[in-house]
Amino acid sequence: MKKIDLHTHSTASDGKDSPAQLVRQAKEADIAVIALTDHDTNAGIPEACEEARSHDIIVIPGCEISTRSNDNRSMHILGLWIPLDNEPLNNFFQYLNVIRERRNQRIITKLQSLGIKIDLGEVIAEADGGTIGRPHFANVLVKKGVVKDMSEAFSFYLGHTGKAYVPKEPASPATACDLLAAAGSTVILAHPFLEHSDVSWLEKQIPSLMQHGLHGLEVWHTRKDPENEAILLELAKRHDMLVSGGTDYHGANKPEISLGTGADDLDVPYSVYENLCIARKKRGLPC
Ligand code: AMP
Ligand code: FE
Ligand code: FE
Ligand code: ZN
Repeated sequence: MKKIDLHTHSTASDGKDSPAQLVRQAKEADIAVIALTDHDTNAGIPEACEEARSHDIIVIPGCEISTRSNDNRSMHILGLWIPLDNEPLNNFFQYLNVIRERRNQRIITKLQSLGIKIDLGEVIAEADGGTIGRPHFANVLVKKGVVKDMSEAFSFYLGHTGKAYVPKEPASPATACDLLAAAGSTVILAHPFLEHSDVSWLEKQIPSLMQHGLHGLEVWHTRKDPENEAILLELAKRHDMLVSGGTDYHGANKPEISLGTGADDLDVPYSVYENLCIARKKRGLPC
């Protein structure tokens, strides 16, 4: 059966492989379809699509937008098949990146006030032109020997209970869904149970987000989890939603996650991709 991976990150955000490397890696891993879904940006897509031309592989242009619900829960919204020339969406990416820049400076100030010698230039260099995210701060802290690894960097400093945590997520999930849906993309709620498995909460979010254009749920994510997968499949079916799946590959920034198979032999059915395409064709949209 052909393999697919509809959630991946490159150096355009906090992944470690360039978009072209990512496409080559996917080809080597015998993956038929990948979606490039960098955080809050479409910057890696032209390079990935260009590389895909010389390999027999489909690259879906995508993104992953960080949002926060009214009741203060983090929600990541995936856009699949995003256009590159949609002005409202591109303005939104720009706005999100301005917010990130402000937050980056605040994280640096907090780390410095904790006595850590670090400056923004080091983090910018670590991100190497990509959208800066907390994993880049984490890598700098590891390189300096402040913490032993990425996980410690998040638990001591960067995670939501860390000493240098600064919230970001200026957008609501409804706004992200509105913009992505209006741009003609397929809108998927990423890893609904990553931070909690609160089914009744999710159940409440779904109808209102569907009104804002949400089409589907990411049922398969990073590692096999038959229990959560069954719950999400049932929810999707009951609400007549699409389903998607991907590894959330970040290259060496999350070495436990492999492209296509995730952390634990993840196996997203090829029919997931086929069904997403069928749904787009029904709406007269390209895929
Ligand atoms: P940001 O977009 O800057 O808020 O960073 C979010 C990214 O940080 C996520 O997409 C993950 O890649 C990463 N991340 C969040 N929490 C952790 C953690 N505890 N350990 C490692 N990486 C994490
Ligand atoms: Fe990430
Ligand atoms: Fe995410
Ligand atoms: Zn992701």
